[in-house]
Parts: sequence; structure tokens; C-alpha cells
Amino acid sequence: MNGLYTSDTIVALATATGAGAIGVIRLSGNEAIAIADTIFKAHHAKPLAELATHTVHLGMIEAEGHQIDECLATVFKGQRSYTGEPVVEFSCHGSSYIIAQVMKSCLAKGARLAEAGEFTKRAFLNGKMALSQAEAVADLIASDSEASHRVALQQMRGGFASEIETLRGELLNFASLIELELDFAEEDVAFADRDSFKALLSHIKQTITQLVASFSVGNVLKNGMPVAIVGKPNAGKSTLLNALLNEERAIVSDIAGTTRDTIEEVLHIGGIAFRFIDTAGIRETHDAIEAIGVQRAKEKIAKAQIVIFLYNQHDDTVADVVAFVKEHYREGVFFVLVHNKIDLYTEGVDTFDEQVRCALVGYNITLLTLSAKERVYLEELKQSLTNYAQQINKAAAGNTVVTNLRHYEALQQALTAVERVEEGLASGLSADLLAIDIRETLYYLGSITGAVSNDEVLGNIFSKFCIGK
Ligand code: GDP
Repeated sequence: MNGLYTSDTIVALATATGAGAIGVIRLSGNEAIAIADTIFKAHHAKPLAELATHTVHLGMIEAEGHQIDECLATVFKGQRSYTGEPVVEFSCHGSSYIIAQVMKSCLAKGARLAEAGEFTKRAFLNGKMALSQAEAVADLIASDSEASHRVALQQMRGGFASEIETLRGELLNFASLIELELDFAEEDVAFADRDSFKALLSHIKQTITQLVASFSVGNVLKNGMPVAIVGKPNAGKSTLLNALLNEERAIVSDIAGTTRDTIEEVLHIGGIAFRFIDTAGIRETHDAIEAIGVQRAKEKIAKAQIVIFLYNQHDDTVADVVAFVKEHYREGVFFVLVHNKIDLYTEGVDTFDEQVRCALVGYNITLLTLSAKERVYLEELKQSLTNYAQQINKAAAGNTVVTNLRHYEALQQALTAVERVEEGLASGLSADLLAIDIRETLYYLGSITGAVSNDEVLGNIFSKFCIGK
């Protein structure tokens, strides 16, 4: 797509709105440098058009004969910029008045306001990055934990885009050969070597299968690990949640609530965000009818990847605890049974838990005892969560992981299509029918990197960006 895309010049504030030390205004497009030269006078008096690319200059911005701000202008010429077209960035003092004046001047000189994500969209359209990389830019900006940051950065720097493109290129070759066979149908020739074709299909299938499987880990790294704390009313859910969050709260209280849904609390362990589901439900009054509580607990458990079940020997029987696990246990969910309030009991806890353990042989569960109120053995629970986070991190280490739902869905569809090609080949399906399934595989693979795309898909992706990105 390189070079096909010519553009008008867009302008936007690239930094956050509101007063700040610096506000960066970004111009991109064919006229970016010419427009910048009409409002910016470098102190050394040379126009930006005559200066080397990738250089920074101190000067004055003037509008309608008034001096607006002394600022830095960074100039990117030709295609070596973020967007792949001429770019000028003004780093002004971050006053909302200054920003408004500079923006107004740029608009008056012929630029137009950028749409959400338009700079990154241009970078994609100008061949600077694959679509999956452009999407990672949004993920990187939104990243709020070590893990989500790491996977976004990996994807932005290429991730699996080049691997998919290579496989797609090879498949495209075969598609052309198979389609050529159609032109010579009467002669019954085979241009496409069936054995190498089979080998390629199996390689593609293997690669896609791995990527599809990585999504469960990738999704946790990007979006955090959903955790449900459940148990009867008064089991100590709220006390435990507070105890777990307490230390972190001191650090993050400034930002808490500004970015997060208020019904969810987040604890960062091992670089992974543990998200406690429906904490509003935990915190509300205790006299809710129990049936509602039960239904709510079920929904929470269904959404969770970690279930922490609180009980104690006074309010629950061994049979209650066992029945709970048997009802809600799912493979792949980390089940932690927590015998709470052990500060109240001098004996009986071990016997109780031993009975639970014996009744649940074969279930992959972790049993812990603690006192949420007195914060005894809280560290053990944290350590358990840390170990789990480490397992997830380890599963992702060194591998490419898929974190984006759109990619995951396209990969699943590509997998189904490639399996159909394999089956078709095995059953001696005619070349014209084979070609249809091959085209479909190509389509889904191409939709990930953007080798095939349409305006609707692009609109959807980039409208989620912020303006100025
Ligand atoms: P929830 O209904 O499950 O959220 O239970 P709460 O966290 O509100 O706790 C109910 C009552 O049990 C409160 O009075 C808590 O102080 C008390 N509680 C919670 N954990 C413990 C504990 O470990 N030991 C003792 N002695 N009391 C606890």
C-alpha cells in the first residue's frame, strides 16, 4: 500500500488536555511543513522546509501578528515519520490558551482536525506498520500493568504479523498455481506440488493452533485475571478483600476510581492485574435475601478464572464445602478454599480440612487457613496468587501470545478454513473447490495484518483510539 495514499494535512493535540508542563501539537500530511513555516519562526531564522529531517529547533509561534509561545519544533521529512508522511511536532508550554491558539492557527492555514486514531491509521495505510501493530499502539497506551504493557509492546514491534504474512505469501503462491490448473483443466495437469502443499498446510495449521491456544493466557495478560471471592453472608469476604487491597490501596488511592469501574477492585501481583469481580455485591448490606446472593455468586464464579471460597467450621459443614466445590468446579479455574476465622478456633480446623481434602481427592484445589480479620497467614494466600501469576507469565514467556479478540476470531476462522483445505486435498476435491477454501484462509489471515481490509473494519478499529494518536 506504500505510496498509494496521499493525504490532506491533519492536526491534533497529542498530549492530554488540560494544563501540563508541555503540550505537543502534531501536524501530519503533505503540507505539514509549509503550514508550520507560516506560524513558526526558528531563532536561527531558517524555515523548517530548508532544514534537515529529524531535527529540533527553538523558535517563536506567532499568530495574526501576536507572539503566542516560545517552543520547540521537531521536523520529520519524507516518509521517515510515525505516519509515513511529513510531520511537524510543536512542543509548547502546556497552557490551554496557547494550545488553542496554535491549533486555531494551524486550522486557519489549511490543516484540519484529526479524527480519532487518524495518525496511526495513516501509519498503517502508508505501510509503516501492520494493522495488528497499529492496534497494539492503542493497547500500549491503555496498558496498566507490567504484563499488559509487555504484550502490547511485543505486538507493536511486530509480534506474529511477519510470521502470518510469510505463511500467507506461501499460501498465495499455491493458490495461484491451483488456479492456474483451472485454466488447463482439460489437460489434467498439476502445477502445485501436492506434497509440499500438504506440508505447508500442516505448518500453517500448527502455527494458527498455537496462536489460538495462546489467547487464554494473552487475554489474562492484557485484561487481567478475574477473581471471585464467594462464601455465605458473614464468611468474611469483605474483610478479606480489604485486607488484600489494603497495602496496595495506600499506593494507588490517587488514581483509583479514575480509570476503573467502581464495582471492581484491582490488585497487582507478579505484574498481573487481579480483578475482583462484583465487589459492590460484596460490600452491600448483608440482609439481602440469600437466594439473590446464591444467583449472584453463580454468575461471579462463571466469569472467574480464580475462585476464592471462604468458609469456617462454625458456619459450614464439611458436606457444605464439598458440595460447593463439586457444583462449581471447572477445569482451568484455580480453586482456593480458605478456612477463615481461625483466630476463633483453637482446635478442629485441621480435622475439618482433612475431611474436606479426603472428600475432594482428584480435584485440583488449594486449601488454606487464615484469619482475614487478624491478617494471619494472609501472606500464604498472596503467595498462592503470586505462584499462579508466575505460571501464567511462564506460559507466555518467549512465546507470541494473541491478546486481541479480533485477531483471535480471525485465527479461529482461518483454522476452520485451512482444515477444510486439508480435508479437501485428502479427499481429492477438485481444484476449483479447493481454491475457494484457500481464498477464505487467505482472507482471514490477511485481515489480521491488514493485507486485506475494508473501511468498515478500519473505522471500527481506529475510532477506539484517542484523538491525537
Ligand atoms: P461477608 O458478608 O462475607 O463480606 O463478611 P464480612 O467481611 O462482612 O465479615 C462478617 C463478620 O465476620 C464481620 O464482623 C467480620 O469482622 C468478621 N470476620 C471476618 N473475618 C474474620 C476473621 O478472620 N476472624 C474473626 N474473628 N472475624 C472475622
